[in-house]
Amino acid sequence: MSRDALRALQWDRLRQQIRYVYDRSPFHRQRFTDAGMEPDDVTDFSVFSRLPTMDKEDHRLAQQESLDRHGNPYALLGCAPADQIVRVNATSGTTGVPTLYALTQHDVDVVNEMHARKYWRAGIRPGHAMLQALSLSMFTGGLPLSQGIMHLGASVIPVGVEGGTRRVLEFAKLTKPDAVIATPSFGQHLIEQCPDITGEPARALGIGRFFCAGEPGGGDPETRTILAEGFGARVFDHTGGGHAFHGISCDEPPGEFKGMHFVSEDHCLLELIDPESKAPVPLDDGAVGEMVWTFLDWYGGPFVRYAMGDIVQVLTEPCACGMPGIRFRIIGRADDMLIVKGVNVYPQAIKAVIDSLYPRTTGAFRIVLERPGPKVAPPLRIRVEADAAITDSDREGLESELLSRFRTKLRIAPKLEWAPAGSIPREAMKTRYVLIET
Ligand SMILES: [Zn+2]
Repeated sequence: MSRDALRALQWDRLRQQIRYVYDRSPFHRQRFTDAGMEPDDVTDFSVFSRLPTMDKEDHRLAQQESLDRHGNPYALLGCAPADQIVRVNATSGTTGVPTLYALTQHDVDVVNEMHARKYWRAGIRPGHAMLQALSLSMFTGGLPLSQGIMHLGASVIPVGVEGGTRRVLEFAKLTKPDAVIATPSFGQHLIEQCPDITGEPARALGIGRFFCAGEPGGGDPETRTILAEGFGARVFDHTGGGHAFHGISCDEPPGEFKGMHFVSEDHCLLELIDPESKAPVPLDDGAVGEMVWTFLDWYGGPFVRYAMGDIVQVLTEPCACGMPGIRFRIIGRADDMLIVKGVNVYPQAIKAVIDSLYPRTTGAFRIVLERPGPKVAPPLRIRVEADAAITDSDREGLESELLSRFRTKLRIAPKLEWAPAGSIPREAMKTRYVLIET
């Protein structure tokens, strides 16, 4: 579909979607009222961008108010009658009370199709087996992702990260999957642990494709190299759970990362805003901003201008793989952002610098703060591990190399604190890189 045809389809669906939510959801209707608008006033995309954004906290408050006043969590945000809802998903809830998504069968079909699109584009076909090592619980990457794999016609082995490292590796050895889906940090952990647990290096598992999800590391060249070499696999980064926003990287040129192709533009309108001022940021090539979603053609509880707190960069130049449409990179979380002497720093960017000196560094690190950010009094303290084989004199060279990379890549001059190899905790779930130590 041409960009113009796609834009016309989005506009058509957007108009129907905002009329639908306005008529059915007291929460969304109130947002229009607050902006002094009705659905018919939205005559183009720029008028639409004047509606206020909603964030997870708004979602959580609406959910709580629904429970308090109406005895069910969907009263204010939900749009479909209860007998049309066939599945409820939730965000992982690691940062507070989980936020719920209620889906109709139509919505579930859309999600399945989006997952199938992503894996199909990465070369997965019926006959392939995919071992799922993400959280399988209410998290949107759990059951919805399994169903999407089945929808494509491939088979899913849903072991889940909850099973633990040993179980994931033993099932990988037993079932011979063509692909593994996990967070990049859990992937690195599997590579580290594989020889001890299975008696062989991770390469011997014969996994052809490693799909990163749940963390931004799948876009970092250094992390990708560790995973590609450790598993002997092609590495893809992808995103999208039980909702309408989905993207997957391609493999052109081989081994490089050119962002994730946005594969669900017919179901999700993407906007960028400035994380501080909330002003719209035009989707020009290279633009960076906080991602804002609006679902199109969605029935259960459509999100309208939902700001999830993810900072992304948009890429609009044609990709070498030939796939049309825009691409994006996830840069970090707006609430993880640290400001050091006026420079915005994301933990993921620090990780990329440390990983660039792997295997002399182990890749494990923590940012040590005395009080929560985002403003940090310089110097930024970073606790980092050198490989056990690195001598004291090697470490001096390593330290000056790391500091020079921090200076040129991130424009920061941190204070490094060396920790013994293996002493920083490895986490199977999403790693929290910031440590508060008073
Ligand atoms: Zn591409």
